[in-house]
Order: sequence, then structure tokens, then C-alpha cells
Amino acid sequence: MIVVMKEGAHQEQIDNVAKLLQSKGLGVHISQGAEKTIIGIIGPKERVFELPMETLPGVEKVVTVSNPFKLASRAFHPQDTLIQVGDHVIGGAHPTIMAGPCSVESREQILEIARFVKQVGGHILRGGAFKPRSSPYSFQGLGEQGLKYLAEAREETGLPIVSEIMEIETLPLMSDYVDVFQIGARNMQNYPLLRAVGKTNKPVLLKRGLSATIEEWLMSAEYILSEGNPNVILCERGIRTFETYTRNTLDLNAVPVVQHLSHLPVIVDPSHGVGKWKYVTAMARAGIAAGANGLIVEIHPNPSEALSDGPQSLTLDNFASMVQEVTRISEALNAVGEDLYVAKN
Ligand code: PEP
Ligand code: MN
Repeated sequence: MIVVMKEGAHQEQIDNVAKLLQSKGLGVHISQGAEKTIIGIIGPKERVFELPMETLPGVEKVVTVSNPFKLASRAFHPQDTLIQVGDHVIGGAHPTIMAGPCSVESREQILEIARFVKQVGGHILRGGAFKPRSSPYSFQGLGEQGLKYLAEAREETGLPIVSEIMEIETLPLMSDYVDVFQIGARNMQNYPLLRAVGKTNKPVLLKRGLSATIEEWLMSAEYILSEGNPNVILCERGIRTFETYTRNTLDLNAVPVVQHLSHLPVIVDPSHGVGKWKYVTAMARAGIAAGANGLIVEIHPNPSEALSDGPQSLTLDNFASMVQEVTRISEALNAVGEDLYVAKN
């Protein structure tokens, strides 16, 4: 449930409402908007019904929120969440471009890619050091050495880095290197891992599970938020459907749906979404046109020799063209500006 305070309600009135709720053992989450303050209530609604909420000074109304996710919901937090990563902000009108190889393979490889990402205007460098491979015999990543190469690439280019964390045991190690933790599709419902990254203050890129509904995905975000980390970026990366021509089916429906249901930024991964490089740029354009807050894309100087996900990796030249194309689309959207329909309420 949420309490909507009247426009211009005083701080004292807000504090009174919060204190009353807390005195009954209910959790409180205050979201101060430009005009109105929303007080999210965490706990059984029967307990709220016993309180004279709507008679309290400054209260406009009490609304029942039917979603099982609370902290992730737009009802609790009407304004978009913006996430600071280094000098860059994720969320808002300007899409974030994250790019890099599926796996860090060598020092030379990641440095060459990082320089290129920087040169064409990318914002964040991706690269897997611990890889969740379908086969135990496939390349599993360079581990800590890969993280060291990523850190060197950040040092040289200034690009923050995002890399996947697979196990709680590696949290201290990963924390020393990465700017953003990636939770992969396969771990979207690894609740202990979600809680562990929720206890840190680093942003978390939460990929949608292979067969997860939007509600299950948002409940996973709720795990992270409920531990106190507000910096969750959602990533649509394609889901399993009956279609086998592409690796997954990129569910672009999820972009406006999530933006309606949640205040968290949502980005699109067209690489895993389609699994074939030829279609990646088209779906990157579509993701931005749908209103995504950014993209995460796999690129490689020589995709045919990549140690993982070569078939879906863009060459550096193709990536440069993709950046130009999505920039033009985003500029066109921003030119439409206020008239653009965004499903927020
Ligand atoms: C990846 O980003 O390389 C990856 C393994 O992604 P996903 O978890 O979406 O499969
Ligand atoms: Mn990959």
C-alpha cells in the first residue's frame, strides 16, 4: 500500500505518518517527488486498515498496490531512478552504451576493444571473467587475470567496467575490480547471490532469466533493493520461446511494460537476444526506439576467433555504425520530447 501526501505537505506531517506506521511494526519507504511525497508501506495491509490514515493531516489518499514487488514499483517511487557509474548516469533521456567482448581473452584483446568503445562514444566496458557456459568443457573465462586486464583497460580509457558475478564466494574479489556487478540470466533467481549484491552499494545489472516472467524478474530486483542497494539496472536479454531460428526471442514488450511498472532503468541486450550478429544492429535500434535506457552489446575484433559468443559479436566497424544509428534514433526521440508517450502511469 502507499500513502500519497498532499502537494506541499510539511515534513512534520510526513514524519508523523511514518512514525505512526512504524509504531505498528510496518516498514516505511519515503519517496520525495517534485510535487508529492509518496510513503510506501511494507507489511500486511490489514494492519494499515486499522489505522486512521486518511484523517491524518497532509494525507491525500491511501492506495492499495496489487503488485508483489514494492520497492521496485513505480507506485512506491514515481520518478525514474538514475544510477551514477563513475562520471556517467544511467537512466533518463540519453541511452547508455555498454560494449565489449563476451569474455576477456587477453590483455591485448580487451585493451584494443576498450580503446575502440571509448573512441566511438561508448560509456561502459563489458567483459566476462567468470563465464556461465552451457558446457563444462567450454572456455570458462580468465578469472582474476581477466578482471586485472579489465581494470587496466579502465585505467587507460576511463571507462567503468561491468562483469558477471557468478558466486557469492567471489564477491570480495569482484568488488575490488568492477564498477557494476552483472547478474546473468542463469542466476536471476539465485536469491542468496541477489541478497549478497544487495548488501553492497555497487550498481547491479540484473539480466532477465531465460524463462522468467516480468513479475519474477522484478521480484528478483526486489531482493536486491530490499537489502538496501537502490542501484538496480534491468536488462532484457531475450527469453526462450518456440522459435529456434534465433538464439532467444528479444522481448521488447518488456521495455514499456517495465517502465510502466517500475522506476528502475531498463536496458536491452540485442546480442544474446538474437544470437546472430546480422540481426543485432536492427534489434539495438528497435530497443532504443522502444524507449530503453541503453544497450549492452558484444563486440570482438575478430568474431570468428572469439572464445565465446563469436556468432553474435559485432566487429568493431559494425559496432561503430550501430552507435551512429542508435544515436540518431535517440536524438529523434528526444526531439519529439514531451509528446512522446511513455507508459508510466
Ligand atoms: C553474457 O553477458 O555474456 C551472458 C552470459 O549473458 P546472459 O546471462 O544474458 O546469458
Ligand atoms: Mn555472451
